[in-house]
Amino acid sequence: MKARPYLVALVLVVLVAGLLVVFRTPGGDPAQQQQRQDTSPQAAVEAGAGAGDPYYPADGNSGYDVRLYNLAITYDPGSQRLDGVATITATATDDLARFNLDLEGLDVSGVEVGGRPAKFAREGDHELVITPSAPVAKGGQFVTAVTYGGKPTTINDASLGRSGWQVSSTGGAFAAGQPHSATTWFPANDTPRDKAALKVAARVPDGWSVVSNGLEGEVTKDGGWSTFRWQEDTPLATYLVTVAIDRWEIVRSQLPGGTPVVDAYAPGTSAQKKPVQARLPEVLALLESKFGPYPQRAAGSIWVADQIGFSLETQTRPIYAAWADLETVVHENAHQWFGDSVTLRSWADICLNECLASYSQWLWAEHEGEDLDDRYRRELEQKRGSTRFWSPKLYDMGQGNEFRGVYDKGIFALHALRRQVGDDVFFPALRSWTAQHRDGNASWPQFEDHVAKASGQQLDGFFQAWFHDSGIPGDQYLLPGVLRR
Ligand SMILES: [Zn+2]
Repeated sequence: MKARPYLVALVLVVLVAGLLVVFRTPGGDPAQQQQRQDTSPQAAVEAGAGAGDPYYPADGNSGYDVRLYNLAITYDPGSQRLDGVATITATATDDLARFNLDLEGLDVSGVEVGGRPAKFAREGDHELVITPSAPVAKGGQFVTAVTYGGKPTTINDASLGRSGWQVSSTGGAFAAGQPHSATTWFPANDTPRDKAALKVAARVPDGWSVVSNGLEGEVTKDGGWSTFRWQEDTPLATYLVTVAIDRWEIVRSQLPGGTPVVDAYAPGTSAQKKPVQARLPEVLALLESKFGPYPQRAAGSIWVADQIGFSLETQTRPIYAAWADLETVVHENAHQWFGDSVTLRSWADICLNECLASYSQWLWAEHEGEDLDDRYRRELEQKRGSTRFWSPKLYDMGQGNEFRGVYDKGIFALHALRRQVGDDVFFPALRSWTAQHRDGNASWPQFEDHVAKASGQQLDGFFQAWFHDSGIPGDQYLLPGVLRR
């Protein structure tokens, strides 16, 4: 994710003014969070709600592992109504007398498990509690079908603006947000720890079209409606799933190795975006040279015409706000390795996503001829006295603070790490990291161990000063290797 620059500036102004800004990193503002804990804890915990994230304990569910979300939706831009059937294939990791899915708003009209009607109830903010007609045995694969519909919810996020399901200015709609988005349009196990494959069949009135993750499938027509199909076989976290409905201009191409590229431009998208997006092969080639082979089966982009508060690394096909530029394209595509292929385990590990994706912007600048050591020293002199710049922690920063620090201090931290261990350790360590954890989950402490082992150095003090502590690191860590002069 990359936040809209002007919004970041606005938030800073407000902070400086001493006003209380609630960063609703979408788990809810503290008041909502409190209410959530107060109203639904007992039943939800018994039902296996919560996948164990310390910052968002109610997110996701225990007891099963989703393999595939097969989503059939119908969306009418005129009425803004969505109707869907979500067919979810999962493996029970426990004996399940009942289990939960997460769904925000929308009405559920029926649930079947294994083809037989199941009881269901709504609890708390977003729990859909399902009781199958017979318990599912641990280790068994089972299929749940949820029939639902209504007007999807938009999340109003104090720091990001609109998030989740969003109606666009062009009359279409799209889903994007972090950490929450998917559950505004389909029932899901909404935790990054449960990655699954995805199939989407989206039916819209003729004249509209639909873009999602992965590879394009067949388009079929029935009585004034068209159904668009997409399939993503590489497992993806729910926050990286998207669907986008508009009167898209679609541009198809291929990467040099044959990977299909689908770029979608909403009506009204600035003509300046196409030449930016046309540099994707060059961007991915640079990133491959640093991070290892491109880990996705497809590539591309979704350019919306709206000035939304963020751009997001939706898997294979990032969503770009109207303000996005080439640096944003570099950032969101770096996430295809860091965030999408190797997914954080907990939101406390967000630096694994954002520090790396933000540092890739510097790698691009270096590719274009900039001396990064000069830039580091120059910007360091400007920022030395800035409490705001140095105070955020880059690891385990606390719920609501995930997106402070990682975009700027995080870049400094990674450049210092690179100079501490040397290029001949740093880049091979990134490549072995993306290879070892491909399509999986990993934590920030695992990354520290990985780099320390690769370097043969004792890096505890370095990591403590840069990633675990608040404040400016001592000169020994601030100016390692060639940065000292
Ligand atoms: Zn990002």
